[in-house]
Amino acid sequence: MIGKLLCAIGRHSFEKRVNPEASGTAGIYYLCRRCGKEKAGYEPPTPGQSAGMAGG
Ligand SMILES: [Zn+2]
Repeated sequence: MIGKLLCAIGRHSFEKRVNPEASGTAGIYYLCRRCGKEKAGYEPPTPGQSAGMAGG
């Protein structure tokens, strides 16, 4: 299946899901429709990222 190949290379078809048992952003996660892989909704900030680039 083509979809499975995409998943194999990391191109998952993530769908946003919300866990009703958790409240707020804690219950947000992503689920791949093809392989069922789960991904945390919250991504940690990238270290070393320059902030205030468009400061004024
Ligand atoms: Zn997948």
